[in-house]
Formats: sequence, structure tokens, C-alpha cells
Amino acid sequence: MANSEFGYVRDFEQGDVLPPSNWIVVRVDGRGFSKFSKKYSFQKPNDRRALDLMNAAATEVVRSFVDVAIAYGQSDEYSFIFHESTSLFERRAAKLATSVATAFTAEYCMQWTTFFPSLPLTRPYPTFDGRCVCYPKRAILRDYLSWRQADCHINNLYNTTFWSMVLKGGMSTTEAEQALKGTVSSDKNEILFSRFGINYNTEPEIYRKGTIVYRSYDNEQEVGIRSADGMSKTQLEKERKRKQKARIVPDHLDIIGNTFWDAHPYILA
Ligand code: ATP
Ligand code: ATP
Ligand code: MG
Ligand code: MG
Ligand code: MG
Ligand code: MG
Ligand code: MG
Repeated sequence: MANSEFGYVRDFEQGDVLPPSNWIVVRVDGRGFSKFSKKYSFQKPNDRRALDLMNAAATEVVRSFVDVAIAYGQSDEYSFIFHESTSLFERRAAKLATSVATAFTAEYCMQWTTFFPSLPLTRPYPTFDGRCVCYPKRAILRDYLSWRQADCHINNLYNTTFWSMVLKGGMSTTEAEQALKGTVSSDKNEILFSRFGINYNTEPEIYRKGTIVYRSYDNEQEVGIRSADGMSKTQLEKERKRKQKARIVPDHLDIIGNTFWDAHPYILA
């Protein structure tokens, strides 16, 4: 009980309230997925079922946390962007990170059989860690998202070339690794095209760009730009209901340039 002689132990807890007016990114990442992906024989370089499962789990997380403005995922990671004005859990970092990571983990495990119907999930079950990072400006948040998408591109170009050399070119993994040492992007594009007839730019967008998950409205013009700052309680409640009615869509678009953001100005409004 709060007022017992034992209550003083609460004073040992450390505060972890994140600063106001910062965008809060909660990034989750699969624990030991290099091993996990081998256990379930994920196709290399990209297992489509695994990505679809990640995106399905992320969609439900976005649905259940209305303050998430957008999410971006690739490989075994997902970043959930909480609006700078969120007051969820009084902005306590541990509460945010653990609630998102456990919600994501639960969805991933519960939806597993939909995407891997013939491969039952066995122990050790997949888990995701979570961390919070604050970005004090929209522009830095944009750079964060660009960083993750550029990472997706660099890894995917490398992995696509590497696995082509191994699976189609008959090289050992060590040989392919050696051959790719010191190569730049144009070298990899050239190897893919001349040796394997692959035009990297026509590879599926989901592999090259990763996935964004955001709320989409039938008439986006009407959405306008709504800032939660200074909204009354009734306005906030109306806004929450509006968001709950939105379609939550996964997409595979460029988020480094301005085109996507200009077309959806309400997302980071
Ligand atoms: P940690 O616990 O430190 O995150 P990890 O083994 O999960 O270790 P990551 O850097 O997160 O290391 O890498 C995740 C790995 O999972 C990738 O390198 C890749 O091998 C594998 N992986 C994830 N998603 C897929 C997928 N859709 N298809 C194929 N492999 C995947
Ligand atoms: P928060 O999200 O802030 O933790 P909460 O509703 O979970 O909110 P807690 O203080 O954690 O609040 O209280 C958990 C509540 O769950 C208890 O008050 C009780 O009503 C209910 N509960 C938990 N375990 C049991 C149980 N075994 N049997 C009956 N009720 C339970
Ligand atoms: Mg409790
Ligand atoms: Mg890692
Ligand atoms: Mg991982
Ligand atoms: Mg990872
Ligand atoms: Mg509780």
C-alpha cells in the first residue's frame, strides 16, 4: 500500500520523463533474428512472409496507439513516431518503450500462423526490444526516417548482390563476402546487371524502401493541418475518434525526398 512503512522504496525509482515538444521515436528490434531467421528458413535475402508479418504487427500497434503519427519498418525493426505533443504515460520512456515493444511482440506471435501456416512457432519465442529517442525538431525527425530508409537501401543492395552471387553464381559465402569488399553501390548494380540480369531499380519496392504505416483518409484535403496544441478536451476526443476511423495503410514509398510529405502534410502536423 502506498502509505505503508515500505512506501519509501518508491523513492529509489528513477524518473525518465522525456522532454516536452520532442518527437518520440520508439524503435523495436527483433532479438537474435539472424538466428531466428535461420531456424524458420527465411528466404534470402528477403523473406516476404516475414516482412508481411512485421507490417501486420505494426499496423495493429499504430491502431492501438493513436498518438503514433507514422511508423517505418525494415528487416526485423520498426520505428513508431509519437507526435511531439503526446502525453501518453506522461511521456515516461520506459512505459512507452515497453508498452510498444510488448504490443508488437504479442501481435507478431499471435499473427505468426497467418503468415507461416505450416511452421508452428516454438520456444524460444521471438521478442523485440524497444528504446526511445527524442528529436527536438521536425527536420531532425525527417533525417532520422531518412537514415533508416537509407540503411534499408544500403543493406538491401548488399544482400541482393551477395545472395545472387551465392545462390545463382555458385560462390561460397566467404567468396562472395571477399568479392564485395571495397565495392561501392555502382559496382554492385553492375554485378547484378551484367552477371545476373537483375536491374536493381526494378526489384520490389518493399525490399528497396521498407514500409511506412500511416493513417489515410478518404478525403485528405478535408483533413487539413490539425495541431493538438491548444485543443480543448472535446476537440482532442473528436480528433481521437477521427483517427480511429482512418484506414491504416502500409506503403513502400520514398520518404527521403519531399514528395510523400508534401502529399500528406497532416502526418507531421
Ligand atoms: P540483435 O538481437 O542484436 O538485434 P539480430 O541477429 O537480430 O541481433 P539485426 O542486426 O537486428 O541482428 O539483424 C536482423 C537479421 O534478421 C538480418 O540480418 C537478417 O539476417 C534477418 N532478417 C530479418 N528479417 C528478414 C527477412 N524478412 N528476410 C530474411 N532475413 C531477415
Ligand atoms: P495501468 O495501465 O496504469 O497499470 P491498470 O488498470 O493496469 O492501469 P494497476 O494498478 O496495474 O492498474 O492495477 C491492475 C488491476 O488489474 C487491479 O486493480 C485489478 O483490478 C486487476 N487485476 C489484476 N490481476 C488480477 C487478478 N488476478 N484478479 C482480479 N483482478 C486483477
Ligand atoms: Mg499493477
Ligand atoms: Mg541490432
Ligand atoms: Mg535484431
Ligand atoms: Mg535489426
Ligand atoms: Mg497495470
